[in-house]
Amino acid sequence: MDEEPERAKRWEGGYERTWEVLKEDESGSLRASVEEILYQAKRKRVMETHGQVRLGMMRHLYVVIDCSRSMEDQDLKPNRLSSTLKLMEAFVDEYFYQNPISQVGIITTKNKRAEKLTELAGNPKKHVAALRKAVDTVCAGEPSLYNALSLAVHTLKHMPGHTSREVLIVLSSLTTCDPSNIYELIKTLKSLKVRVSVIGLSAEVRVCTVLTRETGGFYHVILDESHFKELLMLHVKPPPASASSECSLIRMGFPQHCVASLSDQDAKPSFSMSQLDGDSPGLSLSGYFCPQCHAKYTELPVECKVCGLTLVSAPHLARSFHHLFPLQAFTESPVEQHTDRSCQGCQGRLKDRSVFSCPSCFSSFCMDCDLFIHDSLHCCPCCIHGPSVS
Ligand SMILES: [Zn+2]
Ligand SMILES: [Zn+2]
Ligand SMILES: [Zn+2]
Repeated sequence: MDEEPERAKRWEGGYERTWEVLKEDESGSLRASVEEILYQAKRKRVMETHGQVRLGMMRHLYVVIDCSRSMEDQDLKPNRLSSTLKLMEAFVDEYFYQNPISQVGIITTKNKRAEKLTELAGNPKKHVAALRKAVDTVCAGEPSLYNALSLAVHTLKHMPGHTSREVLIVLSSLTTCDPSNIYELIKTLKSLKVRVSVIGLSAEVRVCTVLTRETGGFYHVILDESHFKELLMLHVKPPPASASSECSLIRMGFPQHCVASLSDQDAKPSFSMSQLDGDSPGLSLSGYFCPQCHAKYTELPVECKVCGLTLVSAPHLARSFHHLFPLQAFTESPVEQHTDRSCQGCQGRLKDRSVFSCPSCFSSFCMDCDLFIHDSLHCCPCCIHGPSVS
C-alpha cells in the first residue's frame, strides 16, 4: 500500500500542558479563562463559513450504521446504538431542512452482512420512523465495511453526474470482516467520485484513514456525545462540488396544493402516488399535482414517480439559497471604539469586549446576535433590503 503522509498523532507531538491555558483571576476563579475558550470556539464557527464556492446542492448520501456487538458498549448512554440512532434522527431532520432537494438512505451492517434499512429517498419521515424502529435491533457479530460500501455504491453509481455521491459511516467496531480486498473497492469508489466519511466511536483505524483520504472525505473519532453531535452536524452542510462534477440545468416542478371543493359534484377522492410505498392515508380530495403528468402527491419534495420531475415548493428552494451566498463575516472591533453602545439586533447594551459590525451597513451587534445572524438568519437585519449577493 502507498506511503502514509506525515501526520503527527497526538501522542507523537510535543508535551502539551493543557492545564496551563487555564489561568485564575484575582478571586481565584477559572471563569474568565473558561469564557475565553468558549468565546474562541464560537468565533471559530462563524469564521469557518467559506466564501463563494460551488456547492453540491443535490446530494445523495448513504448513512452506514454499524450494528455490530461493539454497539452495545455503554460509554455513550444508554448504549452506543441508542445514542447513535437518537442523534441520527436529529441529523436526518437537519439534513433535509438544509438540503431540501437531496436524498438519504440508511444501511446497517452486522454479522458480516450489510442491509438497507431505507432506500435513498427525500422523505425524512420514513427515515426517522425506520430509525425509531431500529432501536430494538440486536447488535451482533462483526460489521463489514466492504459489504456496506458495495451496497451503497451499487445505488450511488447510477446517480447523475451533477449530484454528489456520499457515504457517511458511523463505525463502532475496531475490526471489519471483508469478503474481498477492500483496497480494490477504494479504487473503485475513487473512480466513481464517491466521497466516504467516517465517524469512529472507538479509535482511529488505518483502513478508514486510507478510505477517507483516498475518497476525499473526513475521518473523525468522537470524544463524547456532544462531540459526536457536532461531528454529525458537520455533514449537514453541503460539500463543495468537485471541479470535475458536471453542471446542468435541472427541470423542477412547483405544484400548488389543490383541494377539490366539496360542492363540486365531479370531484372524486383519489389515491396519491406515494400510496405505492404503502405509507400514506387512503383516498383524499387534496394534494399536489405534478404540472407535467398530473400525478398526485401528498408531500413535497418528491421525485415524480411517473415522469421523473423533481417537485419542490418554492420555500424549500429558498432555504438552500443561503448556502450559495453566505453572509460575510462581520468585522470585530474593541468596544471602546464605539460611541453608540447599543446592539442593533437585540437593543441591549454592548457589554462584550468586542463589537461586530456589518461590513455593508456598519451596524453594530453583540456577539450573541452575531452568532444568531450567521447561524439562523443568514442576512443582516439592518441592510436586508440590499443584501450583497455579488
Ligand atoms: Zn410527473
Ligand atoms: Zn444583541
Ligand atoms: Zn448590514
